[in-house]
Amino acid sequence: MSTEYQHHVNGKVSTLPVGKVVCVGRNYVAHAKELNNPVPTEPLLFIKPANTLTFLTPSFSIPASRGECHFEIELAVLIDKKLTMATEQEAQSAIAGIGLALDLTLRDLQQQLKEKGQPWEKAKAFDGACPVSGFVTAEGIDLQNLSIRLWQNGQSRQNGNSADMLVPVVALLSYASTFFTIMPGDILLTGTPQGVGPLHRGDRLTLELSNLLNAESLVL
Ligand code: ZN
Repeated sequence: MSTEYQHHVNGKVSTLPVGKVVCVGRNYVAHAKELNNPVPTEPLLFIKPANTLTFLTPSFSIPASRGECHFEIELAVLIDKKLTMATEQEAQSAIAGIGLALDLTLRDLQQQLKEKGQPWEKAKAFDGACPVSGFVTAEGIDLQNLSIRLWQNGQSRQNGNSADMLVPVVALLSYASTFFTIMPGDILLTGTPQGVGPLHRGDRLTLELSNLLNAESLVL
């Protein structure tokens, strides 16, 4: 992780440790189709380790000379309890906050890895590959009715709603915990809606989670 990254909840530094990021691929049908991927019958999970975490604002950097680096805006869920084989009720009670993340992806490299049947880590787990916003507490918020939007230099690129997730947040968390113990301070990323595309140095991004959060960021 970048030396200074810490989780923030409701504007304050959190005492939770900084852990791994459990991610799901193709959790929105329209996004699976835009990359010519089949729609999965079971969640496709992968992990971004703690070295990927960095602040989304006011800026973040992308790798040089590794081909296209795509933005993927995602609803991020901060966890504050240990979850192993958790029920949906247990998973629900472990949600410390919600925020926004970019699942940065070296798309050209990922395509090469996919063609060879190799793991995605080099394309998705590089240092700084997961810029995240601060989190807000989520009590009383319907996690399956949140708009998730990204603008690049003022142009709308991604405009999704968590209602369109194939697997809803709490079910996904419960499912993931049957494979990996989720620890306090881990983050769940819930997939990206359609509209992903390449970033360029100097891009100005605007990200919005319903009326709960908004962020402006410069790409370095
Ligand atoms: Zn993603």
